[in-house]
Amino acid sequence: MKDIKDMAENNDDSFGIEVILLEGGKTAPCCPHGPTLLFEKVSKGGETGRRFYACSACRDRKDCSFFQWEDDKVSEVRLLAREAENRSKRPPISHQTYCTRFRKFDSLPLDQKTFCRDCQTLLLPGEREAHSSHQCIGVTAAQLRRPSMLLCPLDNKKSNAQYLFTDRSAHFLLDTLAGLGYRKVLCVGTPRLQELIKLRNLEQKHEPMKSLLLDIDFRYAQFYSQDEFCHYNMFNHHFFGGEASSAVLQAFLKECDKEKVVMVADPPFGGLVKPLANSFSLISQTWRKLQSSESSNADMPMMWIFPYFFEPRIRECLPSLTMLDYQVDYDNHPLYKHGKTGRKQSPVRLFTNICPKDVVLPKEEGYRFCSVCQRYVLSLNKHCAKCNVCPSKDGREWKHCSACEKCVKPSWKHCQTCGRCALPDHPCGQSEGKEGCFICGSLLHKRKACPRRDISRIRSHRSNTKKTGKNVPQHSVSKGKAKRKSGAARRAKKMAAQSV
Ligand code: SAH
Ligand code: ZN
Ligand code: ZN
Ligand code: ZN
Ligand code: ZN
Repeated sequence: MKDIKDMAENNDDSFGIEVILLEGGKTAPCCPHGPTLLFEKVSKGGETGRRFYACSACRDRKDCSFFQWEDDKVSEVRLLAREAENRSKRPPISHQTYCTRFRKFDSLPLDQKTFCRDCQTLLLPGEREAHSSHQCIGVTAAQLRRPSMLLCPLDNKKSNAQYLFTDRSAHFLLDTLAGLGYRKVLCVGTPRLQELIKLRNLEQKHEPMKSLLLDIDFRYAQFYSQDEFCHYNMFNHHFFGGEASSAVLQAFLKECDKEKVVMVADPPFGGLVKPLANSFSLISQTWRKLQSSESSNADMPMMWIFPYFFEPRIRECLPSLTMLDYQVDYDNHPLYKHGKTGRKQSPVRLFTNICPKDVVLPKEEGYRFCSVCQRYVLSLNKHCAKCNVCPSKDGREWKHCSACEKCVKPSWKHCQTCGRCALPDHPCGQSEGKEGCFICGSLLHKRKACPRRDISRIRSHRSNTKKTGKNVPQHSVSKGKAKRKSGAARRAKKMAAQSV
């Protein structure tokens, strides 16, 4: 059972694990990270296995050991023990107390401003003694404004690795959003963006922007007021601070004085797309309800930052999002930052519902405008007249295969046996295309026409789907999806393993 969620990240290709979103009234048991998620094992034939609840935020049982079969009867005693455990995991210091501490800290003379690296906390006078054997450093006013540089990025390999934007990428995002007239930025898992927004306001050269950070990393509560930071879990839309905290989000989302709101989210790459999409849809719905009637059908503008190989899955869950060619780089990710040797390709992209032609990508960094596609693309991404798109996803120049009637990766060759393009050393003759339906294995129809597809769709169908329209993820598992997710998840896992 230990690695059961790992299987969601598919160590075993014969089945996948899918998240089942709960219907309206149903609630999941809670772990210290809020309501758990319901998982279901799906085997090759499309049969589903026993369902279980597990932590939404932590992949590794070492980080959160919650596990419960869906049909388990949990005794009163165990429930009480669980509640006590959840309470004991709450942060020892409240956000409010942190705010008072910050004000005191801010007014200290420079030589008394100290940060304990071991404990990752700002120390007030009188507290140094207790940390005398720890590594304590002085904090300048400038450092106090850049918590993401002061705090050590979390390096939890499986679930919580923090990859911080390079200044270049963060400024690109900020300048782009400011240029498009957004005045409020909801930063979901983007502490560095929030920081740059506040620094930009200090310059007093531009119209001020507001920002609110939603993040699970409670260390940030030391630096931001309750209007600027909410302790939040983006996999289950859980506010650790309860209603007072979700009220902060509501207040932020209301567009007073025509201050346009945009959301920027940069979830951990190992993250499961479906629950993330669900949370972002809920944020969008909250936003929609707060706006005047004319935007009653609109989606909240958003940018979801994620690796390109999740594109099919993201578009399946949130069809209004388009993937842009822009490559996001990170400071502390050895693979994707710019080394001295020049540009390294980053697999991380922007998925957005903002009109692609409005997101101007910098020419100096090798992007150009494609007038046919009406979007900015990497210069290498040549427009294909036959496909009528700029086809490249991974930043390399793709080439058209007339047999497949589509553009393919440059490393692929057309294989006569498989009847499609593949890597030269692909397992020949075992082409997926000949497997038939991904769900039930039948050779008579494809996944889309599978009678089982609707069964599983109805089961995980959310009660409010119809009311809320297209922006709600409404599909459920199929073998095909599980499989594609596995490929993407495997690569995400590889990325996470290459940490700092
Ligand atoms: N590139 C961003 C950081 C992205 S790293 C920047 O430079 O600002 C992923 C972020 O998501 C981290 O800040 C991490 O603390 C946060 N995070 C991880 N799991 C989360 C969860 N379950 N809910 C909310 N935030 C989470
Ligand atoms: Zn948990
Ligand atoms: Zn300490
Ligand atoms: Zn083509
Ligand atoms: Zn081909």
